[in-house]
Amino acid sequence: AHLDRIDAVDADIRAFLHVDREGALEQARSVDARIAAGERLGPLAGVPLALKDVMTQVGVPTTAGSKMLEGYHAPYNATVTQRLLDAGVVILGKTNMDEFAMGSSTENSGFGPTHNPWNLERTPGGSGGGSAAAVAAFEAPLAIGTDTGGSIRQPGAFTGTVGVKPTYGGVSRYGQIALASSLDQPGPVARTVLDTALLHEIIAGHDPLDSTSLDEPTPPVVDAARSGDVSGMRIGVVTELGGEGYAPGVEAAFGRTVDQLADLGAEIVEVSCPNFEYALAAYYLILPAECSSNLARFEAMRFGRRVGDDGTHSAEDVMKLSRGAGFGAEVKRRIIIGTYALSAGYYDAYYGSAQKIRTLIQRDFDAAFEKADVLVSPTTPTTAFGLGERTDDPLAMYKNDLCTIPSNLAGNASASFPVGLSEDDQMPVGFHVMAPARADDRLYRVGSALE
Ligand code: GLN
Repeated sequence: AHLDRIDAVDADIRAFLHVDREGALEQARSVDARIAAGERLGPLAGVPLALKDVMTQVGVPTTAGSKMLEGYHAPYNATVTQRLLDAGVVILGKTNMDEFAMGSSTENSGFGPTHNPWNLERTPGGSGGGSAAAVAAFEAPLAIGTDTGGSIRQPGAFTGTVGVKPTYGGVSRYGQIALASSLDQPGPVARTVLDTALLHEIIAGHDPLDSTSLDEPTPPVVDAARSGDVSGMRIGVVTELGGEGYAPGVEAAFGRTVDQLADLGAEIVEVSCPNFEYALAAYYLILPAECSSNLARFEAMRFGRRVGDDGTHSAEDVMKLSRGAGFGAEVKRRIIIGTYALSAGYYDAYYGSAQKIRTLIQRDFDAAFEKADVLVSPTTPTTAFGLGERTDDPLAMYKNDLCTIPSNLAGNASASFPVGLSEDDQMPVGFHVMAPARADDRLYRVGSALE
């Protein structure tokens, strides 16, 4: 049924880069066989899923949305992929994304943009626009995203889906093509809070193949998703994440949701996180620095397309020609910024300062979590913007990632839950919940109370 749905709508939505028809049907048959053989599989066995094309999977292409990796087949499964297959989840195919997960609209994909199912003229957000759009358009009930600065949560907000960024280290990054290793975190995408939690539970847990993986039990996310209970919970509204630059319809939906939580017995408090103001500046130094290093491996010798290998060019020229042709403009921009920020004499001024801000943001969170069990804000200042739209409001654009980035810098857990449509444009609005590291279950408590 989901393959039929993909056939019916994906020519318009373009959520998928690759649909693995035969592989998916084969996986479904093998789930039947495992059950017939008496194996006890979990609740998502046989349920289809869309996999962001940044995760390796044996037998299908992995491109990370880049021409650089066109035709690349990974020789191993990512830990996330392997856990899904072990649980009997059926992987339908690979979803579109901004190139190497750099972007907020999926328009940086080397293979064309994905369209928002609510309005085909709008973006589904990014970088995981394909995963969110596939779930919103009922092409798949589940998807996997990765969140370095908001790439699960912002597309969730733009498409009316649930997206969770687990605590850093909660889900293995092994086999995820790295963007910024100290920020990257895979996570679940679905249409309901319980589906999201069930998927979270499958992919989470310690992995010796990822040196930053947490070696401790996953928080009780499924129980929390079933609880629906926020009575007595202290919910902190972050002063700095609202006001100027936020669309009226987004603020209204946010305010209604906070009132709803108060009606359900939560205690609403106001908290201030003064250093969040610097989060975006710090992020756009740390991320380029790390990605300039991570993307050095795409030099056409070990990985990546090879250009100019005709016997007339030196190996170094082949690397230059290949990187010049394979990478898109945004990727080149960030590699150049990162290389500059890490160069001798500038390291302390840029990367060093950004790391200090990172510590200050962590302290803001620590202080805020003394006063509140979770923090909340809109996920994004506006609803989905138009495809190709050149915004004439730089402040709104600048602030697009502002709410989501602090959690990546601090490594704590956060999520976006759909809370209805904006009265401005009848597009979905996301409610952003942030919890302390290792307390991912609190996100699901709040999300389940809102459903
Ligand atoms: N929009 C952010 C960026 O462009 C987020 C990316 C991400 O989370 N992968 O870096």
